[in-house]
Amino acid sequence: MTSDCLFCRIVAGEIPATIVRETATTLAFRDIDPKAPVHVLVIPKEHYADVATLGQADPELAGQVLATAAEVAEAEGLLADGFRLMFNTGGYGGQEVFHVHAHLLGGAPLGPMLA
Ligand code: AMP
Repeated sequence: MTSDCLFCRIVAGEIPATIVRETATTLAFRDIDPKAPVHVLVIPKEHYADVATLGQADPELAGQVLATAAEVAEAEGLLADGFRLMFNTGGYGGQEVFHVHAHLLGGAPLGPMLA
């Protein structure tokens, strides 16, 4: 728990969020400013700044984040038509919240990744 981290505070229940799935190690909640009909953020409860840090420090936990994302994709009905799962990382990657999170986007055609 990092007291000045927004997503750690959501994990702690200090900031409200619309939680769609919770496991012992992960949490999935709806993005407050959705960019698609379905836009869910999937995080490890433990604080890691970004996916590069998480992937090197705890690949098993990184896999649990992916498993939760897949479960949410199924629960949200995204498997048939497809979806996008992405980790913005660092400045060039456009990351704004430095608690690693996967963006799960779907529910409509999303278009090309890079314009
Ligand atoms: P990123 O640019 O990858 O760091 O994305 C951060 C995401 O967190 C953005 O899509 C924001 O809309 C989202 N966000 C910020 N604050 C909250 C919040 N309190 N609850 C849910 N999503 C949030």
